[in-house]
Amino acid sequence: MATTDAATMEKIVALCKRRGFIFQSSEIYGGLASTYDYGHYGVLLKSNVKAEWWRAVVQERDDVVALDAAILMHPMTWEASGHLEGFTDPLVQCLGKCKRRWREDHLRDAKPEGELRCPECGGELSPPRNFNLMFETHMGPVQEEGSRVYLRPETAQGIFVNFKNVLQFSRKRPPFGIAQVGKSFRNEITPQNFIFRTREFEQMEIEFFVPPADAGHWHEHWLNERMRWYTELGLRPDHLKLRPHDADELSHYSSATSDIEYEFPMGWSELEGIANRGDFDLTQHAKFSREKLEYVDSGSGERYVPHVIEPSAGADRATLAFMVDAYDEEQVEGRERVVLRLHPRLAPVKVAVLPLVNKDGQPERAREIYQDLRRRMPAEYDTGGSIGKRYRRQDEIGTPWGVTVDHQTMEDGTVTLRDRDSLEQARIAMTELGGELERRLAAPWRSPKLA
Ligand code: ATP
Repeated sequence: MATTDAATMEKIVALCKRRGFIFQSSEIYGGLASTYDYGHYGVLLKSNVKAEWWRAVVQERDDVVALDAAILMHPMTWEASGHLEGFTDPLVQCLGKCKRRWREDHLRDAKPEGELRCPECGGELSPPRNFNLMFETHMGPVQEEGSRVYLRPETAQGIFVNFKNVLQFSRKRPPFGIAQVGKSFRNEITPQNFIFRTREFEQMEIEFFVPPADAGHWHEHWLNERMRWYTELGLRPDHLKLRPHDADELSHYSSATSDIEYEFPMGWSELEGIANRGDFDLTQHAKFSREKLEYVDSGSGERYVPHVIEPSAGADRATLAFMVDAYDEEQVEGRERVVLRLHPRLAPVKVAVLPLVNKDGQPERAREIYQDLRRRMPAEYDTGGSIGKRYRRQDEIGTPWGVTVDHQTMEDGTVTLRDRDSLEQARIAMTELGGELERRLAAPWRSPKLA
């Protein structure tokens, strides 16, 4: 089996378009820069990523509850959080021919010493100016000063402003967390690399509230938990690393942050940030709202403002990483096949049911099998084109199992069950198929790219 690292961003973008995972947004109008629309398989894949996140952080734990806060929030939120003042990137513009805009910090990362020049045309660059990344809009019919609101640039603040509500109704006490998945918006200066950095994206965030003295321990806990999540879902450990932030990189609120980085085709880049935010957010919101945001122990009377550990991941970035990691090419019987070796739990479709020929009762039998299977798991029934062509399509969308109905099925009720990665074909009774696939789906899985 090939274990090449064949993935390039161009190949991933092409596959996404070819198989209907992700399209350029508003394509018929020429597209809108760096915004993307998810098609059928993309929606299924990304919702599986989010479902696995919910499973790991809420379903399989006793100490995290869910929240879904509105995207539009009271504008004071952003004053309190520091975003109005400080959520900026240093923007420089080319003063030469091309006039392109760049993030100075990114240019500086690539060239730590000496004078910076425009990477496009070599022109001189303007002095940096701070550019606020929040999208503004107006609420109500009149565009006046008091009607200005912002599209949230992170989901985190929706959690902090609900701290009191959740504490009251969830019957939790620190250490406990609140988890949320939702859209965030940032007017990025240089969105790039497909869905890696876009202006509209989905985040999966947890704010985990702890007694102040325990913050270090819980930071460590979440670093380990989140690394485990990515590797259990199939990312190769040698393509993942933890990178602690240097002191000069830390955000205004953070006493320690480590990024989980993945080796994307364009190099090591952030997948998730895990920050120790101290009591910054609750203290700020208490100050601005004049609400007490603290924990009071009903037994001892002890009161404190909890410290916060924040694992903050991007659903789109994670989806991209899973696709990149799964992408493979190999020669099978003299033909090249492209295959997404996705973890079966992430695969958009778990099983494809294919009649070998379109006659002799095979399509009808295959359809019966499909109707039984799809009650158990996402399944597809496909009669279009040669069997080889249909399997190539399923390989490219990462379907882990294929069931072929052939003339023998009509005689003895058995089908062939094909494995996407090993290409092994086993003969199995139709009646055992559902149970066998459920067993395989629940079993631990190891990426075949790991030798
Ligand atoms: P970067 O340094 O890449 O701009 P960040 O440090 O500003 O990211 P955070 O504020 O820590 O990012 O956001 C948490 C997570 O949200 C990131 O790890 C990433 O997965 C996701 N994310 C942030 N910005 C974007 C974006 N523009 N497009 C897609 N995902 C994003």
